Amino acid sequence: MTKQDSSIRPGARDPRYDVLFEPVKIGPVTARNRFYQVPHCNGMGHQYPSSMAEMRGVKAEGGWGVVCTEQVEIHHSSELSPVIEGRLWDDADLPTFQRMTDKIHEHGGLAGIEPCYDGLATPNRYSREIPMAPSARPVAYMDPVQARVMDKTDIRNVRRWYVNAAKRAKQAGFDIIYVYAGHDLNALSHFLSRRWNTRGDEYGGSLENRVRLLREVLIDTKEAVGDTCGIAIRFGVEELQGKDGLTSDGEGRDVVEMLADIPDLWDVNVSDWDNDSMTSRFADEGFQDSHVAFVKKVTNKPVVGVGRYTSPDNMVRLIKSGQLDLIGAARPSIADPFLPKKIEEGRIEDIRECIGCNICVTADFTMTPLRCTQNPTMGEEWRKGWHPERIDAKHADESVLIVGAGPAGLEAARALGQRGYDVTLAEATGAVGGRVAREGALPGLAAWRRVADYRSYQISQMPNVETYLESNLTADQVLEFGADHVVIATGATWCDSGVGRENFAPIPRDKGAPVMTVDGIMAGEETKGPVVIFDDDHFYMGGVLAELIRGKGHYVTLVTPAADVSHWTHNTLEQTRIQKRLMEMDVKIVPLHNVSHIGTDSVTLECGYTEREHDIPCGTFIPVTMRQTVDGLFHGVQKLITDTGPSLTRIGDCFGPGTIAAAVYAGHRYARELGTEPTDATPFRRELPQLAPR
Ligand code: ADP
Ligand code: SF4
Repeated sequence: MTKQDSSIRPGARDPRYDVLFEPVKIGPVTARNRFYQVPHCNGMGHQYPSSMAEMRGVKAEGGWGVVCTEQVEIHHSSELSPVIEGRLWDDADLPTFQRMTDKIHEHGGLAGIEPCYDGLATPNRYSREIPMAPSARPVAYMDPVQARVMDKTDIRNVRRWYVNAAKRAKQAGFDIIYVYAGHDLNALSHFLSRRWNTRGDEYGGSLENRVRLLREVLIDTKEAVGDTCGIAIRFGVEELQGKDGLTSDGEGRDVVEMLADIPDLWDVNVSDWDNDSMTSRFADEGFQDSHVAFVKKVTNKPVVGVGRYTSPDNMVRLIKSGQLDLIGAARPSIADPFLPKKIEEGRIEDIRECIGCNICVTADFTMTPLRCTQNPTMGEEWRKGWHPERIDAKHADESVLIVGAGPAGLEAARALGQRGYDVTLAEATGAVGGRVAREGALPGLAAWRRVADYRSYQISQMPNVETYLESNLTADQVLEFGADHVVIATGATWCDSGVGRENFAPIPRDKGAPVMTVDGIMAGEETKGPVVIFDDDHFYMGGVLAELIRGKGHYVTLVTPAADVSHWTHNTLEQTRIQKRLMEMDVKIVPLHNVSHIGTDSVTLECGYTEREHDIPCGTFIPVTMRQTVDGLFHGVQKLITDTGPSLTRIGDCFGPGTIAAAVYAGHRYARELGTEPTDATPFRRELPQLAPR
């Protein structure tokens, strides 16, 4: 089969963007352009090394001048199990990284590595070593583990382990070696911090003393490998903690001034990870600019910064205004590994822009391979052989009717169109997008519409894909259409029964109880009286609705069986911000409670532990508990279909309600697999643990 390459429409690069393609010298190495994939976690690391290496290689193929690892453990006495990061404890780990650097070099990129001694940040669940830190403290995880104070021998050892890691990294083919002092996640940043470092020796007290270990490791690393490798520092110049933390007009700036020209590159950001990887709900593109703007004034070395940059005009502005030398990206490079290539080839409109949802970040917390809402091939490059730009040509001259233009239907149409099938996409409403069109109108979620925008533009460029709006198809119409394949992607609606995780049966209610659905609210139905939201879903929707309705001036109570609001958003780094925002808006939060009865003007809450009940006033009750599949059309077609009829498949939320990322993946998967025979085989390559000798 020939491959269909979506990069078949190369145009000329806009000369305004030429500056982005200038080479940048980083110590003894030179990046071919200014596109720099900063270190980012991926849930593959040492556990799925082939997947990790292929994913990084695809980024280099997509034009990123520098492609880095995630944080990489350098010694067994500081390891992050069961979180999956990089691991370079000894020579046994070299082949993993050799594979990665080979893949990156194959495509002309520089490979960077971020060695890290976590110290206080981890309880060492696997190695069982006692963690070490500048001062004795409980570790950051809630484990009942305390870190012990590092003495001078420990400090010497850690310095040596950093050097060993740097030498191994060089051996594995890395071009850029980091000294990582960011995100409040590692010994070097803990030594810097007044919060964690209360030592009385030459490594504590004054900033000059607290910066000592970082300076030593930088110099050690330079001496060890700086002849052939660029030495980068990753540093959080601002911690957004006021006087308790580093600030960009205080000690954060002082550190940059003190170390100014020692490293070959400054990779700067806002710490910790919650602040560095803010979602679009809480921060716009370029949200770090004002904090890192000073760095280039203080050092002569190149500076890379991040801020979910996807706009090439903005990138040019950052370079030309002298704020950055390199455009750093983690999420934009995940959503579109070919972002640089697309700018280079004059295909700006083909960029698949990150929506800032942080589903990628959840992979780290849930210890699963990286996945992305916008890019369904992310994490599947090796195990499924999915390339973000290329796909097999159609297996036959066949036609496909897709019903429903939500994320699943749109992605299926786009990818099937790319394969060359004759595709018809029918949508009941007057607009494409399905849930992203609806949810994109909720507070803070506008960027989610990019899921539909990218796909509808791509489809509009394909002569073999037709979209019909206002086409609410019946089963008869579907079959009359006469397509070879029918895909039902009709989505899901929110239930009003209250059944979910906490309630196995509908919540008992009086006749006339004022229950409204999430969909009703999104459709603009007006709430009355005090509003009670029951959030047994724990993702964003309960919190977003509370914000929406409270913003209109209604009194809102959010009841949840969890201990905090939007509990799952700990995984998207949003939970604290959501809870803070709701509290500041005076949304009343009732955690650890179920709803046991819905009356006409009150609801009964039940304590999750004692089962004690109390009533609160309620003019509108909104259960955010679960969704039901809209699969009537699927079953209708299934009943009518004959042996000679079209193939029939349901995908996305109408098959199993889930995340937008899951729906996009389902659409993509359908398109990839059309024309292949179903088998019982595992549908992806596996990476098995290596069996040690007996
Ligand atoms: P998913 O996330 O799986 O893509 P969505 O709920 O976002 O699901 O989108 C489903 C889309 O299907 C909605 O835009 C809805 O209007 C559309 N739809 C539902 N039933 C029909 C139908 N019978 N004919 C055409 N479109 C339909
Ligand atoms: Fe961006 Fe969301 Fe993809 Fe992460 S998962 S890269 S935030 S679109």
